[in-house]
Amino acid sequence: MNKTIFTKSQWLIASLAILVLVGCAKQNAQIVTVNGKTMGTTYSVKYLPSDGKGSISTQQLTNLLDERLIQINQLMSTYISDSELSMLNDAPAHQAFPISEETASVIRKALELSELSDGMLDIAVGPIVNLWGFGPNLRPEKIPSPEQLLAAQALTGAKSFVLEGNSVIKSNDDVYIDLSTIAKGYAVDELALILESYNITNYLVEIGGEMRLSGKKPNEQDWVVAIEKPISQQRAIQRTIVIGNNAIATSGDYRNYYEEDGQRFSHLIDPKTAYPIQHNLVAVTVVAPSSMEADGLATALIVMGPETGKELAERENIAALFITKDEDGFNEFRSTAFDRQVKVIQ
Ligand code: ADP
Ligand code: MG
Repeated sequence: MNKTIFTKSQWLIASLAILVLVGCAKQNAQIVTVNGKTMGTTYSVKYLPSDGKGSISTQQLTNLLDERLIQINQLMSTYISDSELSMLNDAPAHQAFPISEETASVIRKALELSELSDGMLDIAVGPIVNLWGFGPNLRPEKIPSPEQLLAAQALTGAKSFVLEGNSVIKSNDDVYIDLSTIAKGYAVDELALILESYNITNYLVEIGGEMRLSGKKPNEQDWVVAIEKPISQQRAIQRTIVIGNNAIATSGDYRNYYEEDGQRFSHLIDPKTAYPIQHNLVAVTVVAPSSMEADGLATALIVMGPETGKELAERENIAALFITKDEDGFNEFRSTAFDRQVKVIQ
């Protein structure tokens, strides 16, 4: 099995799904920027230093952020062969495998979102992802056979494992849990917590396109976020928005896909059919208080598709922007909660 880490990341190095327009800072405006690499992609933290008590030097803060990311990777990356998650994936079925409270809490959140989305967000979908060749840079030699897909499907979904307290019990040796869909979001939240613990309240934290914002830029300017148009050939802006003290995540099938015989295969899998999603919903952006929630929900909604995705967003008051690709071009649908919570600038 390919040990895929937080997939899609290679695409994101070249192109972030969400761009921030860092406006021209004026004279005494001093945004500090810390950049680095993590989870197979890049991260960026921008903040206004707090002065006085409890302040911290950029170097010290950089070290803390880096250390925290290394810790999280050592727990949840499937790219690191001795990470906690990799050891869980290697563990035999039918016995309790104890994990950290931290990893358990992320799995718990994923299971909650899975239930909310009627199983469409599925962190055990890995065996199917793999058959379709969405390990990094891989393509299947040919389309997987129905038999292969059925066999992989038997390893996925709610039946694949249970979380009891902080222990996981797999139902089959080959069950493979992949936290790609929410681990970046989780890490963004954790970095934000570090900043806040040093009284930094004006910041932007971003890992591979998952982003969380707080406060303002210098001179009381809002952080402005650009949502990209869902096209793979070039970069263009669909919307610019202000989201307040919230996180934002976009899930799309327009960067990470391949084409075979003119057909497009997305890296997002419909667990019910074991096929890559095939509907006309090409991108979903979610704004939520936590980055983990925004990250997971964006993936859940796009996999659900235009009708059920919109229904769920309305029913659960999720602030979501859907972009569909129709005969007349791109069409946009914004949930009621999105219009209420988000200021659309353009
Ligand atoms: P996006 O930001 O486009 O949602 P992510 O990197 O967050 O992308 O998650 C996509 C990855 O999650 C895929 O590459 C695949 O490994 C995995 N995945 C695919 N389908 C599903 C699904 N239905 N539920 C959970 N994870 C999935
Ligand atoms: Mg996601």
